[in-house]
Amino acid sequence: MLKQVHKEIEELFPEMVEIRRYLHQYPELSFQETNTAKYIANFYKELGIPYRTNVGGNGVIATLKGGKPGKTIALRADFDGLPIQDEKDVEYKSKVDGVMHACGHDGHTATLLILAKVMKKYQDELPGTIEFLHQHAEEYAPGGAKPIIESGAINHVDAVFGTHLWSTTPLGKLQISNDVIMAGADRFEIIIKGKGGHGAYPHETKDAIVIASQLVTDFQQIISRRIDPLESGVITVGSFHAGDAFNVIADSAKIVGTVRHFNLGIQEKIIREIERITNGVCIASDAAYEFDYFKGYPPLVNHEKEAKLVVEASQSIEEIHTVDKNVKPFMAGEDFAYYTMKKPGAFFFTGAQKQANPYPHHHPKFDFDERAMPIAAKTLIGAYFVYQNTRESCSQENEMMRK
Ligand code: MN
Repeated sequence: MLKQVHKEIEELFPEMVEIRRYLHQYPELSFQETNTAKYIANFYKELGIPYRTNVGGNGVIATLKGGKPGKTIALRADFDGLPIQDEKDVEYKSKVDGVMHACGHDGHTATLLILAKVMKKYQDELPGTIEFLHQHAEEYAPGGAKPIIESGAINHVDAVFGTHLWSTTPLGKLQISNDVIMAGADRFEIIIKGKGGHGAYPHETKDAIVIASQLVTDFQQIISRRIDPLESGVITVGSFHAGDAFNVIADSAKIVGTVRHFNLGIQEKIIREIERITNGVCIASDAAYEFDYFKGYPPLVNHEKEAKLVVEASQSIEEIHTVDKNVKPFMAGEDFAYYTMKKPGAFFFTGAQKQANPYPHHHPKFDFDERAMPIAAKTLIGAYFVYQNTRESCSQENEMMRK
């Protein structure tokens, strides 16, 4: 069946491209993707595959129940765009001002829809069940994955697989890891409340710029001196705003930054240290502060067994010439993390590099090689088939038959 499935995915490549390019022209922002959700629902309606809409928000889940016993596997694709002006010069450029599919989620959606179309034909012979999980709002925390999981939508699922087309990874290359594959990504905001005054009379003020500057430099010691050298993390102050005039001492300063981490223990430690330093510096400077920390997505940690199944599945795909089994974690965040916290699963990157010097994700000229979509579809369905053949699922199947 697998060979035939591959062939049919290839045959439907033009339709895959057509869907991707249509979605690319009509991107919608996170939590506002109602038309995209309708488009997806309508596709399943026409296929005759039962689906549910408004899952945890704009999520759509279609269920293809096979004719043979087996495991239930969710395959996930996200479908939101970004608040970026499309600067590409192509006919399928975004028609929505200031909104763009700059991360390839249009491609993820087209991949999963066409895969569903192919698999529908094999429904009777199919072991187990495929949940085609179309997730809204990946780009904007708290994201769509969390409410989808909280709605109970994956409670009955045995494993979850997902991929990201990646514009800076060569076509034909697959990247995966048995462990953490994407970082946890958080945001913090600190407002220093000093006392303003004349630039010539500093002794009568509490200079918020001096105090906040000290915080920025002291934060550099958190990673270098307070985190185990064998662990890692990032603290970046990306925004610093204070003052309006050259001869006035600012009464307040606001710094905003991001934290990246690979485990929740390090995250907690970094939060504690940022607040401790802020508190200490403000005590020493007789200033007050406000501290807000917004936890974004947790680190995305793959399960070893499921990651190995993806690698195994990739071996029967001609177009995949390189598999990096131990890719270093990408520093971006991904709310697929919540699925693997709840269920066994694995996430991988499908190489989709379009030109020699590709634009990275979230760039106004971002694009990807569409030939990566069928590769992604084959790998996802391959993982599904390999999973059905694992010893554990066979024994359960036998058990079911005995009953
Ligand atoms: Mn993305």
